[in-house]
Amino acid sequence: MGINKKSVPMREQPPEQRKHNFLEVPLGYSKEEATLEAQRCLQCPTHPCVDGCPVHINIPAFILKIRQNKLQEAIDIIHQSNLLPAITGRVCPQEDQCQAVCIMGNVGDPISIGRLERYVADWELENRKKGEVKIPEKLPPKNKKVAIIGSGPAGLSCAADLAKMGYDVTIFEGFHKTGGVLTYGIPEFRLPKWIVEEEKKFFEKLGVKFETDVLVGRTITIKELMENGFEAVFIGTGAGLPRFMHIPGENLDGIYSANEFLTRVNLMKAYKFPEYDTPIKIGKRVAVIGGGNVAMDAARTALRLGAEHVFLVYRRSRKEMPAREEEIAHAEEEGIEFMLLTNPVRYIGDEKGFVKQAECIKMKLGEEDASGRRRPIPIEGSEFKLDVDQVIVAIGTTPNPIIAKTTEGLKTGRHGVIEVDENMQTSVKGVFAGGDIVTGAATVITAMGAGRKAAASIDKYLRGEL
Ligand code: FAD
Ligand code: SF4
Repeated sequence: MGINKKSVPMREQPPEQRKHNFLEVPLGYSKEEATLEAQRCLQCPTHPCVDGCPVHINIPAFILKIRQNKLQEAIDIIHQSNLLPAITGRVCPQEDQCQAVCIMGNVGDPISIGRLERYVADWELENRKKGEVKIPEKLPPKNKKVAIIGSGPAGLSCAADLAKMGYDVTIFEGFHKTGGVLTYGIPEFRLPKWIVEEEKKFFEKLGVKFETDVLVGRTITIKELMENGFEAVFIGTGAGLPRFMHIPGENLDGIYSANEFLTRVNLMKAYKFPEYDTPIKIGKRVAVIGGGNVAMDAARTALRLGAEHVFLVYRRSRKEMPAREEEIAHAEEEGIEFMLLTNPVRYIGDEKGFVKQAECIKMKLGEEDASGRRRPIPIEGSEFKLDVDQVIVAIGTTPNPIIAKTTEGLKTGRHGVIEVDENMQTSVKGVFAGGDIVTGAATVITAMGAGRKAAASIDKYLRGEL
């Protein structure tokens, strides 16, 4: 019997049902499904998938353990490189990373590495509920304190590696909850928040301390942290400052940044109003501006809150959308109307100052720009008005400047990103940075990779080798 060229599909909540609830959409593999998928892996000696993974998980090794039903060994292998597999198994763009270079992709579907990772991670989370948490080995205490600013994937990964090396690590987080975008950005139906909370316990078991409601640059500065005995600092504060288009009417009521909209819903649980005291406008006709993951999340969230019609207004074509294919397909299945090659030019309000129309213009594609995508060009005279009562702007984010403004000598680059050298060290001695604050908005796994790289450099620095 030859190898099955088709990957084992994952069961999902049907679109008609899921668009009315916040429950997770993909339902995970059963043992039989995971074993069947694991059997498709060729166990290639060159394993290109490992190089395709930004944190270099030993993919064939953990897949082999699934085949043998040795799931503790499978999770131990994954944990050597990645302490957030239940999260990355759900949100990583595997199709552009490990799965993009999987040899099986030459003859059929690549191995569903993300789904298998999720399967093993979910098995481990189930075991944790029975009180069986196995943490990776730790070196003896080094009696040196390191401060991590920001509890997103970059900060968490950096903290975990340093804790394993025996450092005394404290994470300072501006919000009242930890997790960064995993908690306040990515919606419950893609990443249930109990998983993020459960992963936090894992870090606590490793000895990482969390101090929430501490906004570094306001509550305390980096200089003060160092004066308080922290010998190195890692900045993993992400890129959470929303961008706007600066077009007329953008300040009208009913126009949100995707950040504010998603934070209200995810972090402040506005979808459970009045059980949670966070108000949110529930638009009937909602326009979401943008074509990335954030735009898809905002559109699908608006739908679940009760919008009758959600338009996704994007200035290029579907092909250029930066969102993951799976998210685009899910949004389409749920009935989000894509208005492609279209851009808003101004918003029109009613007499009370609430948005009532978005004036848009049709676009065509020109030459490729610096991003390698074809540049959108407005088509003169093609303006039209779209009736809306809510607009959510999801056209990107930049780093918040608080830390740069309050840390003397900290060099920043374009759009306020923090500049680092090849060791992730900033222009201030002993201060390192990584994740979205350095690259601009990117992905969970690249932020994790940066956090791990910085941890290795911080260790060198504290041992006097850097
Ligand atoms: P963040 O996750 O942003 O964490 C930074 C943390 O620092 C936050 O908790 C913040 O509150 C805290 N902080 C900021 N300033 C301070 C301060 N001064 N003091 C103390 N704390 C501070 N990526 C994917 O791979 N797949 C996806 O499907 C995906 N979907 C996304 C959906 C949305 C809605 C968004 C917004 C992003 C998405 N991303 C996705 C991108 C991904 O989440 C980010 O690239 C990643 O979280 C960056 O990690 P980070 O640790 O650098 O920053
Ligand atoms: Fe398995 Fe694909 Fe990796 Fe080969 S490249 S070892 S088939 S996951």
